[in-house]
Amino acid sequence: MKLKQLFESKKCVFSLEVFPPKKNGGDPTTLYPALDEMKQLNPDYISVTYGAAGGPAGMSTVQIASHIKKTLGIEPLAHLTCINSEPEDVEKVLHTLKEQGVENILALRGDRCPDAHPARSYQHASDLMRVIAETGDFYMAGACYPEGHTESDGLMQDIENLRYKVEAGAGHLVTQLFFDNTRYFRFINLLRKKGIALPVQAGVMPITTKRQIERTVSLTSASLPAEFTKMIARYSDDEQAMFDAGIDYAIRQIRDLVESGADGIHLYAMNQPRVAKRVYEGIRDLLTEEN
Ligand code: FAD
Repeated sequence: MKLKQLFESKKCVFSLEVFPPKKNGGDPTTLYPALDEMKQLNPDYISVTYGAAGGPAGMSTVQIASHIKKTLGIEPLAHLTCINSEPEDVEKVLHTLKEQGVENILALRGDRCPDAHPARSYQHASDLMRVIAETGDFYMAGACYPEGHTESDGLMQDIENLRYKVEAGAGHLVTQLFFDNTRYFRFINLLRKKGIALPVQAGVMPITTKRQIERTVSLTSASLPAEFTKMIARYSDDEQAMFDAGIDYAIRQIRDLVESGADGIHLYAMNQPRVAKRVYEGIRDLLTEEN
C-alpha cells in the first residue's frame, strides 16, 4: 500500500522510526525482536533510516523494510539518501526495493560527512525525488525542519526550498525532532500561508537518558523550552527519574500536538520498544479515536 491512502483516510497518522543496528557486525536480524514488540503498538507504518554514506550498509535498510512488510504485515517507509551516491547506486537500491515490494521512500539528501567528498550527481533531496518519480512506482515523503535547516538562510528560505520537494512529487513531510510545539505550529502556519498543503507529521524523540542529552540534545539546534531544561537539570543524574520524566514530556508533547490537529506523529523510537511502548500507552486513547 502506498502511504498516500493513510493520509487520505486518517485524521492522525502514527508511525515509528528505527535504524539498522550497528552492533553485532550490523546484522539486520538483531533488530527483529524489537520490531516484533513494536508491532504490538499498531503503527500505521515504520520507517527505516539509511546511512548518508550509502554503500552496502544501505542494503540493511532494504532488508529490514522488507521484513517489516512481509513478516510483520506493516507498511515500511525506506529512507534513501543521495549525497554520496551515483545514479547506478540509486538505481540498484530502487530495483531491490521494488523486488521486495517496498512501495514507500523517504527521499533525503543525507547529512554531509566530514570525511567524505560528496558525489556530484545529486545536490538536493528533490534531485533524488525526480529520479524516483521517473520510475513511477513509488510513493515519496520528504524531510522538513520546523526551526529551519542548519544550512539554510533562515526559516523562510528553507520553506521556499520545500517547494522543490512538492514539485518533485512528495506526498507528505516528516519533521526533524523538536521540543517546543509552538515552533511546529508556527511552521505549519507559515507553510499553509505559502500554499504548501502537504500533510506534515510531527517528529518527536523522547529524551530518556543522560547519554541522549549529551549526544542528541547538545548537537541539535532545536529550541529547548524552560520546562524541558528544568526537567534535565532536575532529573539527569537519576537514571530512572530521567527515564520517567523524558517519557512524560514526550507524552505531553504528543497529546498537545494531536489535540491541536497535527496531521500525524512520527516517533523516533531509536530501536527501543520499551520507550515506544511507554509513550504509546500515554497516547493510545487519542490514536484509537482515529481508527
Ligand atoms: P535537502 O532538501 O536537499 O535540503 C538541504 C538544504 O538545502 C536545506 O538547507 C534546504 O533549504 C536547501 N535546499 C533544498 N533544495 C534546494 C534547492 N533546490 N536549491 C537550493 N537549496 C536547496 N539522514 C541520513 O543520512 N539518513 C536518514 O535516514 C535520515 N533520515 C531523516 C529523517 C527525517 C524525518 C529528517 C528530518 C532528517 C533525516 N536525515 C537523515 C537527515 C537529513 O539527511 C539532513 O537533515 C540533511 O542535512 C538534509 O536532508 P534533506 O533531505 O532535507 O535535504
